[in-house]
Amino acid sequence: MITPARQRNHILLVDDDMVLRGMASRTLKHAGFSVHAVDSGEAGVQAFDSGEFDLVLLDVMLPGISGFEVCERLRQMPGGLHIPILMLTGLDDTASVDEAFRRGATDFVTKPINWTLLSHRIRFNLRAAALAETAMRHQRQMSAAQRLARLGSWEWVVDSGEVICSDEMLRLLDMYQLGQTTHFDALLAHVSESDRSTVASVRRQSAESGRAYQLKYAVVCDDGVERVLIEQAEVERDALGRIVTLRAIAQDITDRVAAQQRIDALSFKDELTGLPNRHYFLEVGRGAVEHSLRFRKTSAVLYFDLDRFKSVNDSLGHEGGNAVLCKVGWRIQRCVRGADMLARCDDNGQEEPVARLAGDSFIVLLVDLANDQVAAQVCARVLNALAEPLVIDGQPQFVTASAGIALYPRDANDVPGLIQAAEQAMYAAKKAGRARYEFFSQELGRLSHARAELDKDFRRGLMAGEMCLYFQPKVDARSGRMIGAESLVRWDHPEQGVLAPGHFIQVAEETGLIIPMTDSVMQMACASLAQWRQAGLPLVPLSVNVPAPYFAIEEAVERLASTARTFEVDPSLITIEITESLLMNDAEGTLERLNALKQAGFRLSLDDFGTGYSSLSYLHRFPIDELKIDRAFIKHIDEGERNAIIAMSILMLGRQFGLEVVAEGVETAAQSRRLLTAGGHVQQGYFFSRPVSESTFRVLLGKGSIVAPALASDT
Ligand code: C2E
Ligand code: MG
Ligand code: MG
Repeated sequence: MITPARQRNHILLVDDDMVLRGMASRTLKHAGFSVHAVDSGEAGVQAFDSGEFDLVLLDVMLPGISGFEVCERLRQMPGGLHIPILMLTGLDDTASVDEAFRRGATDFVTKPINWTLLSHRIRFNLRAAALAETAMRHQRQMSAAQRLARLGSWEWVVDSGEVICSDEMLRLLDMYQLGQTTHFDALLAHVSESDRSTVASVRRQSAESGRAYQLKYAVVCDDGVERVLIEQAEVERDALGRIVTLRAIAQDITDRVAAQQRIDALSFKDELTGLPNRHYFLEVGRGAVEHSLRFRKTSAVLYFDLDRFKSVNDSLGHEGGNAVLCKVGWRIQRCVRGADMLARCDDNGQEEPVARLAGDSFIVLLVDLANDQVAAQVCARVLNALAEPLVIDGQPQFVTASAGIALYPRDANDVPGLIQAAEQAMYAAKKAGRARYEFFSQELGRLSHARAELDKDFRRGLMAGEMCLYFQPKVDARSGRMIGAESLVRWDHPEQGVLAPGHFIQVAEETGLIIPMTDSVMQMACASLAQWRQAGLPLVPLSVNVPAPYFAIEEAVERLASTARTFEVDPSLITIEITESLLMNDAEGTLERLNALKQAGFRLSLDDFGTGYSSLSYLHRFPIDELKIDRAFIKHIDEGERNAIIAMSILMLGRQFGLEVVAEGVETAAQSRRLLTAGGHVQQGYFFSRPVSESTFRVLLGKGSIVAPALASDT
């Protein structure tokens, strides 16, 4: 709510002449003023202190403290600085008039008083005071606005060289001591040395030519802190068109500049290693590739990825892992910096061809290569340097990397394409045994395209429920009785028909989809057992393949057990087939999980035994019930060569450890017989039955035994 302005008509009259007081009061009241009259200086000061007045009429000659003295005191009191004070003086007393102005009077009125003129004089002074107050309020508002916006202003009176600064300008330049009016050179003195001559000449030119300007410069404050100002100026001309003043506003944009610098740094720098990031690499790389194109030169992208970085991270912890990444980045940079064929890559002429892409992968850009082999040499040099031990927390750490090389223009025609090609080549290097490099090839390109398609398709198929189970009987070869079965996953592909795991297991493992796939296999196996039970069929234990990565999940065992519970399947009807690879890494955690599996009631089988680093120690350390001799040893068993000896040894070994031994991949009667004579009566293979669909398997279950040879089946 706005309150109406108080009428400005309260007058304090200080005069010892009683007659004058009476006359004045009457006349002024008549003219619309309210008058408070007192007869001495002291009373005047007191009245001013306790009342609210708009103007003071003050006699010069007073008993006690003089009018001049009163005037001076009033100016110091709250509300006294700008109030109009009119002094009453004798007619020809010019000395008093001078003195009155000196002591702060606003105006004077001579005695004897012309009563008609007095009201006019008072009104004039009140109006002038009101105007002055408005102007001052505007000034204050402008100062406040400037302060909030960190915006100062200054005016250069060209002729005199005088510069008038706003309060905020003084604050921005730390120039309080100089006062609002100063000189051109003083204004320049705070500009940082590197910008000073530019600022001076731009200002001078503008004052001469009349052209407006905008300029960014730094100023150095007394405490040595630098601020960045952006200044805009234009000139003002007189009636004859001469330039009289240069008027400028300057704003403090230090925070904005700092924020921008941080954004720039973040968007181009990898925070961990301080190396350029992918973003920067793409920017710089584009320029380099354009350069190569223009000069018909070869460029190369080298893609490095640490081998088994996850286990480095696991053993050293997050901090240690980070330290490894920093050191690796630095080593790569050092190896590459030395390479003299590197072009200057960025605007500042700095060589920054190494970037961290993400995680444990780094890329290097080499330009203007004499030939392909130079890229290979640099790559080999980096790999060798990385193979040297890194010292982390005083301990030597060994890391290796695999690398891929893609060449421009042979392998791709832009930087993203080169990175992709180099990455594919790097994967080929990993596949070929790690700690080495490979060049990209068109064949690789085709393969990885097909891989990417398969990846997509598998993901879709898994979500769409296209996985199903086939079952292969485990037989007691002495009687042909079915004593169990292995569930084997199949992908019922809408276009390609039923696909065996060889087509997709690797993709599933590499994409991590093996986990949900295993959950779904376990569910299908339990659901089948539940249905067969409901159908009154004689049940046999069912094997489920659970791959090593599944056991990396904390709740792996609980998930398997809860699926069995859901379908009300007795866990002793389920044999979990694991592979040696699981037993090889992280033996402690694995032992815990396998024990938990046993405790939950499942049977445990060690699949493909003999193919890995088969170690006797597994057999007594882990709670295993069954060994499956890999097909490779069964194949030539009837030919009596080395494989046969191994198979026989495994059979014996298993028996000694009290394990059930299953011979996998029995295809012929001769193989079956040979195994039987060595005591290996539990057999699985095409000789008895191929893996069959659920509906076919129901028939086998119903019969309870297999009449071998039974090679006819679904797949
Ligand atoms: P595995 O667990 O060792 O399964 C035995 C494989 O040998 C099966 O191949 C089976 O069809 C095949 N086989 C059985 N008898 C004979 C024979 O007499 N001759 C020949 N040549 N082969 C025979 P399949 O079904 O193609 O599975 C291959 C591998 O894929 C399996 O080896 C297993 O490692 C994996 N796999 C199968 N099903 C699953 C599953 O549900 N989950 C996971 N994680 N892996 C699975
Ligand atoms: Mg198996
Ligand atoms: Mg096997």
